[in-house]
Amino acid sequence: METGGPPAVVVKKVPLTPKAIIHKMFGEKACYKVEEVHEPTHNGCPGLALPQKGPSLYRCCLQLPEFSVVSETFKRKKDAEQSAAEMALEKLGINPAADPAAQDPWDALVGRLSYLFSNEFLSSLHPLSCHFRAALQRVGHLSCLVPISVLAVYDAKLSSLCKTINPKVESDPLLIMPLVLKAAQRSGSVSTHEDQLSLRRKNPYPPEIMQTLVNQQSSLAGSIWISAILIPCSVEKTAISLMLKIALNDYYPDVIAQKLGLSDASTVLVSRTVGKASSEMRLYFCAPKSCLGDLSSGLLDSTESVYPKGSLNKRGSYLSGQLVYGDAILASIGYKWKSSDLVYEDVSLRTYYRLLLSKTPCGLYKLSRDAVLAAELPGAFTSRTNWRGSFPRDLLCTFCRQHRLSEPVFSIVSNPLESLTEFPGSQKKLKVTESGNQVINKGANDSSGSVPIGSRETFSCEVKIFSRCQDLIIECSPKQSFKKQNDAFQNASLRVLSWLNKYFKKLDMDLEELTSCGDILDIQFDSQLFIKEFSLAVSVYTHWQSIGVQAEDRVLDPACVNQLGDTVGSIDIKGPDSGVSPSNGSLVSVVYSICLVTGGEHGKELIESTEDFEFEIGSGSVISCLESVVTQMSVGQSARFYMKSPPQDLILASARDSSLILPVLTPGGCSLECTITLLQVTEPLEDRMEQALFSPPLSKQRVDYAVQHIKESCASSLVDFGCGSGSLLESLLECPTSLEKIVGVDLSQKSLARAAKILHSKLSTNSNATASSTVVKSVLLYDGSITIFDSRLYGFDIGTCLEVIEHMEEDQAHLFGDIVLSNFCPRILIVSTPNYEYNVILQGSTPQILEEDPDDNNHSQSCKFRNHDHKFEWTREQFGRWASDLAARHNYSVEFSGVGGAADKEPGFASQIALFRRVDECPKNVDVTLKYSVIWEWNSTSQF
Ligand code: SAH
Ligand code: MG
Repeated sequence: METGGPPAVVVKKVPLTPKAIIHKMFGEKACYKVEEVHEPTHNGCPGLALPQKGPSLYRCCLQLPEFSVVSETFKRKKDAEQSAAEMALEKLGINPAADPAAQDPWDALVGRLSYLFSNEFLSSLHPLSCHFRAALQRVGHLSCLVPISVLAVYDAKLSSLCKTINPKVESDPLLIMPLVLKAAQRSGSVSTHEDQLSLRRKNPYPPEIMQTLVNQQSSLAGSIWISAILIPCSVEKTAISLMLKIALNDYYPDVIAQKLGLSDASTVLVSRTVGKASSEMRLYFCAPKSCLGDLSSGLLDSTESVYPKGSLNKRGSYLSGQLVYGDAILASIGYKWKSSDLVYEDVSLRTYYRLLLSKTPCGLYKLSRDAVLAAELPGAFTSRTNWRGSFPRDLLCTFCRQHRLSEPVFSIVSNPLESLTEFPGSQKKLKVTESGNQVINKGANDSSGSVPIGSRETFSCEVKIFSRCQDLIIECSPKQSFKKQNDAFQNASLRVLSWLNKYFKKLDMDLEELTSCGDILDIQFDSQLFIKEFSLAVSVYTHWQSIGVQAEDRVLDPACVNQLGDTVGSIDIKGPDSGVSPSNGSLVSVVYSICLVTGGEHGKELIESTEDFEFEIGSGSVISCLESVVTQMSVGQSARFYMKSPPQDLILASARDSSLILPVLTPGGCSLECTITLLQVTEPLEDRMEQALFSPPLSKQRVDYAVQHIKESCASSLVDFGCGSGSLLESLLECPTSLEKIVGVDLSQKSLARAAKILHSKLSTNSNATASSTVVKSVLLYDGSITIFDSRLYGFDIGTCLEVIEHMEEDQAHLFGDIVLSNFCPRILIVSTPNYEYNVILQGSTPQILEEDPDDNNHSQSCKFRNHDHKFEWTREQFGRWASDLAARHNYSVEFSGVGGAADKEPGFASQIALFRRVDECPKNVDVTLKYSVIWEWNSTSQF
């Protein structure tokens, strides 16, 4: 390989040498032949040439497919080749010199280096000039020496020229050394220092310049202390804090070098900035000794790194996105433009752990909410107003930047609206044709008679993530469509984030699992590229995960969020029950604080606390135990509970003062105490709308409707299918009816617990005062699914099922219909569900509630359904068909009615209701099947 020749890899935008241009045009077809020629003798007779004494000369013949050229003679082979290439370009009519920037990057590098060491630069306002001035103060053999890594890091021009010559310097700071060394050798004004990666000026600066500088420097007195972090090479050793004492007339890189065990900064390498772009936080580490020899002998010339095996500092490399070797120090210190003052900041363990946390999708969300211990990346984007913290799209962009991937590419697909108006139920469960954007919903594809709602188009969004080299790594193409473009962006981004988050929470996940997680979210990925991009993350985090970090797999299904999560021991709730409790979709506002508790005399240390922290119930946006505790509380109450200690790195990322908690932070030896007060509950969108638009609220009207029919029917037994927190049952205890036996069934433990509480307090006051107002003898709550038969609920006089079926998948709603009429056989059954056609009115006429984005005139339609837990909402036609078919199959009659709005006015009732009546007597005998469990029971006899 020839020295100083054009590099094999050249970035496009950079000026090319003639030879490089020829190479681009002809590749292997350009053939250079260099021949050595001897100086002709003065008599011009070749035969009498003198024996060769002086330097040889070279001539180059360049053969191209169409023609060939022969150059003049040159002292160097390389020049002969360039000249031949230039002649060929001339013949081809291409003039590389026309571009004034078309300079050999090597020449430019030499030029830049000479400028940096000029008198002029020394007094410039460039941050690097401060290093030059400080270097003048270095003593002894170090006097005036500037480390090459400092030149490379602080001069953007120099580093971009080096990148042009060898693009790999971008990821490996060591590779810049041979380039700068070589350029220094070629420049006349800079001398290299033996075995040291430092440069100095050949001739001293003029005395007058030196004098002013000496005067300036000597005015600097005193010293500063800053804290930095030592990140040991081995991932087994934890990062620790260390203090740097820097006297103001010291050269600070020397101080850092000494902490790394070196005598001075000559062989220290410096990374790019880590964290915020504006920060001066960088990693300092030592060039491996084994490479130094190669460097000075010019061997370290290759494009491959030659670091000794096992010396990769994985955490440092992961943080900076560059190769970092050996032990590294993370410090925030440096010079800024136009000032000769050092700027510095303490880097605490908390900063360090936050940097690591900010590389994970969930971590980015936690940090944006300023709730490291409490927040979680939500599993659903319901609407802009309900989302707290940075938006998914921004999180995804930051994630890509953090991992040095290209910015994500979003593309919006707009769909005609038919699908949405005709098959509203099909939006959540995707049953999709391969090509077109039409969503087909089986069993509901007869659209005749349906009323179209609006005629706007809908949008879906595709996201692609590319590597730095523009290879496609991840592709997410959800079919789900939205009325607002922004919702499509956010939801597609959230899919990618959720998928990445699954991976970061379980980095040893195998490909199969990763693929099937991707399938659910409509994500495809290139497994090889993906693994390559995140290999460092795997080695950094799997170590933690193996030391007590449970890869907690958060369950996204809201039905499962009911469990008590990771709470330990009992939950202590204080304060009177105000009756205002959150439910799925409510926005709650809380104050919380989390303390580390140890058995010892240290007591408690506050780790994290937040005033007025808001989140949406049921979307998984906080850790599950926090959510489950909050759902048991009512406004004004406070609770205290203990939770399993999360991974240490999370605690350290949230701890205000790690020096206080570090000594007591033993794995398994401490727990976290959480104190929380529920400040406020804002009802879910559906309830808010129903309250804003209807008086009395729609939910009250539904209950009143049912109560009216129960009274008229003279029923003595009632079962409420999907009773929720018992709003209907409660009303039935408040007014006189003929009911003696009242039963509620639900599968939500949380709702049942709340129902039990309310009914209990109702019944205990009733029995004291107004017992006569009811003839109720027994009230029972069962835990069970209404799509499964339990013979204890067979043959009741009346069954109610208010606003429940839309919370099931459509096939389950059909199943429920069959089971209830064929097995439970109530004499009367009342079923209510939203009328989808009414949503235009609900959503269009309440802009003050729903308008989420003031810039968007398009009235908010992001909540296509009234409640994000709805799996479908039917038009009158769809509900009519469901109920009529059902009635016909099971020998019931059916009447339609509703509440809110009117039957004869478009678009009908807000809540549509079907009233079924059994035509025949039902069979007397039924097999005993016990599938439900009793959650709570009250008997009038046992009360006296
Ligand atoms: N009927 C109540 C609650 C409506 S919310 C009211 O009008 O206020 C819907 C309820 O249906 C929720 O409590 C949910 O837990 C319940 N549910 C959904 N699917 C169910 C199933 N398969 N079995 C029993 N309950 C169900
Ligand atoms: Mg509902």
